[in-house]
Amino acid sequence: MLPHAIREDDNPFALLGLTPGLQRLLIFIRWTSYKCPHCGHVFRRNFWPSAIRLESGQRKCKECGMLFDDGSREWPELPFGRRLRLFLPPLAIGIWGGFLVAAVISLYVSPRDEHSWGVVFLVSAVGLIPVLAWSPVALMRVIYSIHRYNARGGAGV
Ligand SMILES: [Zn+2]
Repeated sequence: MLPHAIREDDNPFALLGLTPGLQRLLIFIRWTSYKCPHCGHVFRRNFWPSAIRLESGQRKCKECGMLFDDGSREWPELPFGRRLRLFLPPLAIGIWGGFLVAAVISLYVSPRDEHSWGVVFLVSAVGLIPVLAWSPVALMRVIYSIHRYNARGGAGV
């Protein structure tokens, strides 16, 4: 059992949220740092905290050379919810949600007739393009991950 990487949320502009003026928007600049549990060396900064990474989980620190568990897992080890999130990244879902909301709003601003629902359907379908474009990329990552998992002979870390 390897020690887990240290995860730290950095929000350097948090206090600006209390001040008036446009600089308040800087509070949205935040990231998550992952550090080696042995020496504290930062090996990754993530601006998208829920990103799913398909790797063995075992990482060797570039700084001190010690092994640790960086929290990534191969596909066969991922729980269902995280598998789903790999194929439906929050950004794509956000874009689709935006299109859907715009389509529904259009129902209220335009006179209602039988064409309106067709527009909602069409706009929703267009909003799904980022998800569809992403799927083959996600699928390739899954295939590579399963290969790596099988090559090392099943459960690790
Ligand atoms: Zn280290």
